[in-house]
Amino acid sequence: MGILKKLGNLVIISGFSGVGKGTVVQKLLEGSDHYALSISMTTRKPRDNEEHGVHYYFVKDEEFEDMIAKNGFLEHAGYVGCYYGTPRAFVEEHRGKGIDVILEIEVQGALQVKKRHPEAIMIFITTPNAREMERRLTNRKMDSYAKITSRMERAIEEAEQMKKYDYVVINDVLDDCVRTVEEIIVNEPSGPRYDPKFKDRFVESLKEIIVERKNCTEFSENR
Ligand code: 5GP
Repeated sequence: MGILKKLGNLVIISGFSGVGKGTVVQKLLEGSDHYALSISMTTRKPRDNEEHGVHYYFVKDEEFEDMIAKNGFLEHAGYVGCYYGTPRAFVEEHRGKGIDVILEIEVQGALQVKKRHPEAIMIFITTPNAREMERRLTNRKMDSYAKITSRMERAIEEAEQMKKYDYVVINDVLDDCVRTVEEIIVNEPSGPRYDPKFKDRFVESLKEIIVERKNCTEFSENR
């Protein structure tokens, strides 16, 4: 009689933009060969440093829609005017071999996966506070001033979804954050996982910063 292998975990990592979730995931992958990162398909244009098949599969709308029609995605979602989706085959194949599969996806897609796979472990990564989020978005020099403001506006909506995640992890010191995520995957600790006061403070502070930034833009535009 064959021995049934335990399925690998399905781990969903989401978080505010600029929070460093990509770095957390890279560290997890470097630290162990028990993990495989799912490469998403997207219709957005590649950035300068991005490679097809490494960061994403960059495709045209028709190819993406064809994949939807063939039921080839575990989940897919629209995000700022482009499609993003998780190819199903990779996830099933690796989980079948007992390897933990990591999906780094946004909230709508994460909730679709959780509905189909209640066993998925959902982790939301956040900065310690909204000021730190603004600082990281500014320091990475990827977006214009206005784009950063709109990313922070979007974070207000995302913060409201934090409570649907199994765990919220603060990325303050990177190595600590990686260790916490790893502990969650291995042990699935129980106990309080979400602090509504943290979310309220975060959203309040986001709103204050957005007003400041918009006033600042008006000030510079009127000079
Ligand atoms: P970016 O364009 O900055 O690479 O990603 C934008 C957002 O899309 C990020 O929040 C990222 O986690 C999310 N994302 C990347 N791949 C997928 C995917 O396959 N499905 C969904 N639902 N979101 C994705």
